[in-house]
Amino acid sequence: MAKHGHDVTIVERKKFPREKTCGDGLTPRAVKELGDMGLSTQLERFHRYEGLRATAHGKELELQWPTHPIYPRYGYVVRRRELDMMVARNAQNAGAKLLEEHEAVAPIMEKGCVRGAMITNKENNTTVALHADYVVIADGANSRFGRSMGTSRERAWPYGTAIRTYWQSPRHQEPWIESALDVKDRNGKSMPGYGWIFPVGDGTINIGVGLLSTFKNFKDVNTSNLLDSYAHMVADRWEIDPTKPECKATSGKIPMGGSVGPKVGPTHIVIGDAAGSVNPFNGEGIDYAYETAHMAADVIHDALTSGDAMALKRYEQLVEDEYGQYFKVARLFARIIGRPALMRELSRVGIHSRTLMEWVLRIMANLLRPDELGPAEAAYKAAAAIVRLYPNA
Ligand SMILES: Cc1cc2nc3c(=O)[nH]c(=O)nc-3n(C[C@H](O)[C@H](O)[C@H](O)COP(=O)(O)OP(=O)(O)OC[C@H]3O[C@@H](n4cnc5c(N)ncnc54)[C@H](O)[C@@H]3O)c2cc1C
Repeated sequence: MAKHGHDVTIVERKKFPREKTCGDGLTPRAVKELGDMGLSTQLERFHRYEGLRATAHGKELELQWPTHPIYPRYGYVVRRRELDMMVARNAQNAGAKLLEEHEAVAPIMEKGCVRGAMITNKENNTTVALHADYVVIADGANSRFGRSMGTSRERAWPYGTAIRTYWQSPRHQEPWIESALDVKDRNGKSMPGYGWIFPVGDGTINIGVGLLSTFKNFKDVNTSNLLDSYAHMVADRWEIDPTKPECKATSGKIPMGGSVGPKVGPTHIVIGDAAGSVNPFNGEGIDYAYETAHMAADVIHDALTSGDAMALKRYEQLVEDEYGQYFKVARLFARIIGRPALMRELSRVGIHSRTLMEWVLRIMANLLRPDELGPAEAAYKAAAAIVRLYPNA
């Protein structure tokens, strides 16, 4: 928006660099968006990786990111305190004004339209009005501001929760991110959830576990214990001391599958986690936050240049076209893997077949090719045909 010459103010309640609980994994889709922001060169100083190592039932498979006409064949792992500061500074360099340690506490409403927000300066606790023609709501998973604008989450749809922290490891520069399809406790008993290890390249690795609300006994699972079990499970291989993480583990809720709406109003747009824009297949949301931000910027630019606020309406359609069907398939998948016996069987079959896992990776990372119909695209189309029969899935 700022590059187009518009007057942009970003309101952020924390001060950069700030922590954000995350796996820090950037997939090819996120790398593409960061490239579009002009950050390709700056990204090169971070840890680049080539693909995913899937582990299950004592076996492992290294799967390189697939070739794609739009997305690169690599990703990065970047701590969010560094990534988010880099993106914010980039916006400032383009001309946007960044108000750090300022919290948007309430929308300013005029004739049913939001026309800015009341902003509290956290340093001196004063509150002032910030007026705007258009407001983009990007306040993350809890989205208090979004809720005050009337957004809500589809209660029946799946959501996730995840926890992570960092450990020192000599393997911090590995070219693979790792994902475990079976997490076991110290007695070898299977636990619900999946685990990840993302090498950060700075002497540390990010280890975390995630759970879906569709899993059996979801609410009873103690995620700290789950992470502790997983850290013990991988300790020897990753040469970590599981009892000595770098810092206390923190967790967060992950709204997903486009579950939060309405995503657009007469003068506002909701993006990223505030709109539930996370891929239910794998819990990645950084790229979807950037992509929805990109779409929002495009339609607001149209509205400002044409003088017609109706241009905002197009956002809902853009989001639906890009993710509607995909998220629906993913939500169905989230329900299926919530059944432990089925998940066990699927991971057992998968880990024994490189070909199968390669197309599973292509589907799960949303890297299907528009230009050719391979087995992954064919399998996805079959699943999409099934979900079309269930309008409310
Ligand atoms: C444990 C965990 C691991 C994850 N791992 C990955 C991963 O490896 N890869 C991936 O792609 N995704 C991952 N995700 C998901 C990813 O973190 C989110 O999808 C992504 O951060 C969404 O970006 P966002 O900008 O919408 O929200 P956020 O990144 O949450 O940013 C929202 C910002 O708004 C600010 N804010 C909130 N309210 C206000 C207010 N009222 N006024 C001013 N500022 C406000 C916050 O301080 C924050 O800086 C993970 C999530 C969790 C919980």
